[in-house]
Amino acid sequence: MTDLQRYSRQIVLPEIGINGQQMLRDSTVMLFGMGGLGSASAPYLAGAGVGQLLIADPDRLELSNLQRQVLYREADVGRHKIEAAAAQLRALNHDIDVVPLQPAAALARLHEADVVLDGTDRFSARFAINAACVAARKPLVSAAAIRFEGQIAVLDPTRRGGCYACMYPPQGEDAERCEDAGIAGPVVGTVGVMQAWLTLRRLLGLADDAGTLHTWSAEHLQWRRLTVSRDPNCPVCGTHDLDPA
Ligand SMILES: [Zn+2]
Repeated sequence: MTDLQRYSRQIVLPEIGINGQQMLRDSTVMLFGMGGLGSASAPYLAGAGVGQLLIADPDRLELSNLQRQVLYREADVGRHKIEAAAAQLRALNHDIDVVPLQPAAALARLHEADVVLDGTDRFSARFAINAACVAARKPLVSAAAIRFEGQIAVLDPTRRGGCYACMYPPQGEDAERCEDAGIAGPVVGTVGVMQAWLTLRRLLGLADDAGTLHTWSAEHLQWRRLTVSRDPNCPVCGTHDLDPA
């Protein structure tokens, strides 16, 4: 009954209903990166009642993170982000299971996830997460934001389209990072919230948008949708015998 009250505003949506709520409760989502993207996506997943959130990040919170990583409080500076984030998410919804993990431990539990979110800021981590998701056949919602631009890719080469390495062939170089290039808080927040929405609607079976890339220009206030094609020579998904082309 409490659940009915708690989630009433989404249960009343015919596309969600009681069945959808139960689907969310039965779901496990793994989030890599509890920075600006995870700060925005995780509270919405917790609020919606996703039953288990596995959150991974190796870093401690720095003062310069608070400008955009609004899940945290000043008192959290110096704490491990996963510990501070877990406390906040549990305070938001005591009914769900929030598990803080170091990234290596999270990768070892990837098989438990229904959807994986990448909100990390290093290419090396992105490629490792993508390769693990392709190997485990897990859908990946991969997001990035820098300056006034963001993008989100919904990747599931077992269903349709390519993987992250089809879009960005591995080069061994780190991406431009926010600490060098800058980022506006609401830009990364918008992308993180959209990442949560793409995850929820996938968990609910409302849309199958595997193989799509959504780009967001905060300067022009424009979203664009592109297709992520599968590269048959991709070093990651090209070597897997995945069913659909
Ligand atoms: Zn690929």
